[in-house]
Amino acid sequence: MRLSQFHIATVKEVPADAEIVSHRLMLRAGMIRKLAAGIYTWTPLGLRVLRRVERVVREEMDRAGAIEMLMPSIQPKELWEETGRWQKFGGQLLKIRDRKDGEFCYGPTHEEVVTDFARNELKSYRQLPVNFYQIQTKFRDEIRPRFGVMRAREFLMKDAYSFHLTAECMDRTYRVMYDAYARIFTRLGLKFRAVQADTGAIGGNASHEFHVLADSGEDAIAFASGSDYAANVELAEALAPAAPRPAPAAALERVPTPGVRTVEDVSAHFGIPAQRVLKTILVRGREGLVALCLRGDHELNEIKAAKLPELPGESVLAGEAEIVAATGTRPGFIGPVGLPEAIPVIVDRSAAALADFVCGGNADDTHYRGANWERDARVTRVADLRKVVEGDPSPDGRGTLSIARGIEVGHVFQLGQKYAEAMGASVLDEQGKARVMYMGCYGIGVSRIVAAAIEQNHDDAGIVWPEAMAPWRAAICVINPKNDAKVAEAAEGLYRDLLARGVDVALDDRGLRPGAMFADIELIGIPHRVVVSERGVAAGTFEYRRRDESESRALDRAAVLALFE
Ligand code: ATP
Ligand code: MG
Ligand code: MG
Ligand code: MG
Repeated sequence: MRLSQFHIATVKEVPADAEIVSHRLMLRAGMIRKLAAGIYTWTPLGLRVLRRVERVVREEMDRAGAIEMLMPSIQPKELWEETGRWQKFGGQLLKIRDRKDGEFCYGPTHEEVVTDFARNELKSYRQLPVNFYQIQTKFRDEIRPRFGVMRAREFLMKDAYSFHLTAECMDRTYRVMYDAYARIFTRLGLKFRAVQADTGAIGGNASHEFHVLADSGEDAIAFASGSDYAANVELAEALAPAAPRPAPAAALERVPTPGVRTVEDVSAHFGIPAQRVLKTILVRGREGLVALCLRGDHELNEIKAAKLPELPGESVLAGEAEIVAATGTRPGFIGPVGLPEAIPVIVDRSAAALADFVCGGNADDTHYRGANWERDARVTRVADLRKVVEGDPSPDGRGTLSIARGIEVGHVFQLGQKYAEAMGASVLDEQGKARVMYMGCYGIGVSRIVAAAIEQNHDDAGIVWPEAMAPWRAAICVINPKNDAKVAEAAEGLYRDLLARGVDVALDDRGLRPGAMFADIELIGIPHRVVVSERGVAAGTFEYRRRDESESRALDRAAVLALFE
């Protein structure tokens, strides 16, 4: 690529809202341009990097036996009603209407669409297992889009969905995907950790998140020295040995509830409407996390709409409150005994006088009947919650916890039969009997990876790309080519030689002053730089420098070519 024919558009100034280094550097290097909040154009330069990530992801997915397809990003409401998610998904779902008043959403994820595809296409166990994937634009109306493409509203995701006759088969593919993810992030040159994640709201069997380690990460992850325990902090906190809790009020009746987990489960098990199930959500407000206890039929986005300033938690919740976790009736957070030093907050005052709710019992397979909304519903600051800190024993009891910050770049999840059941996706087994399929889903934030990689790989001069992600492996910087035919000729010759060897090289023939040219090439993060100057040509050498080294070396043509062998 001749940079004189490319669009290089580095800039000096970046807007003040570009808080983290990857956002600033992507803007300065001219990789992205903001169109609207959380919506970005990828420039030709940015796209080169995005495509590199995509390619590694695609190669490893193909290698792991997944098959690529492409589903629409606009999805009909009817599909989402089949799973109940048209309501439940909350404010992140961007709903749109067509001219005939048909309702659609811009896909934030594709479980519904792929399950619909599967129920039409897959008829026999002989077609299983199968793992479909796509690399496609998603839209989530994030409450606080920020950090550029790190938490965007429109972003690029690789999402895969596998279908199985049995849970064992789902588990096998899950492991294959887990390994493929580890290979992807290794090939991309990232420092990462896989951690256990919550399966709460979806209610599957197993889930892991892959985090790129970075201090700017929005997530906290806990891992143990002395054992292989690693989890995101929400999960580690939920499972941490409980702080002493007050005994439940005498009016509460403890009921064994094997296998009862979600609000829907509780409602069915006790034969009560969802409004009488108490659940807890974690909300990040101005002053940090708070836990809110609320009725089971509350939509998460309703919390935002509730008149929070009227409530005792006012100062905590003023402004934008972001819901970070919904815990269903998971033990550890829920109900009257979960939050010992809590301040009561009633989200819905009309319910204040009501009693006889059901809530989780802070232990698996247990619930309490007879909870009183006013007496028992609580909110607390995270400082009062059971907090996991450095040096705590790990929940598996075999090690000591360290806490690190991470950026979630991948997520694998065993969905079980949840979607296939709701949407009637079954195949005939060997005996000719219809069996509901098992599913797994596997996401990678392709565009987020670009930002995450910069968080890990930069210096004062700019980006320092891992080789696998660099827009070009090498740059040839030509000094004063217009006035020096020999220099121009030497640069052209080297350019041809490198291209002939299959090296992806950029020839910087823009005719910039050396300082400005070097600053651009460093900012853009190209791993290898070769300078062609009058002095070098006279001595028969090029000045070579690796982006991650401070010293340059004089190398002859053969030595330069040997670097790329
Ligand atoms: P987060 O916790 O960061 O909001 P998520 O758990 O909601 O992410 P998933 O539903 O697991 O996201 O989606 C799969 C992957 O898509 C995530 O692991 C992440 O890398 C990426 N992703 C999710 N939301 C965004 C976003 N707003 N901008 C960029 N990438 C995203
Ligand atoms: Mg999210
Ligand atoms: Mg997440
Ligand atoms: Mg996730």
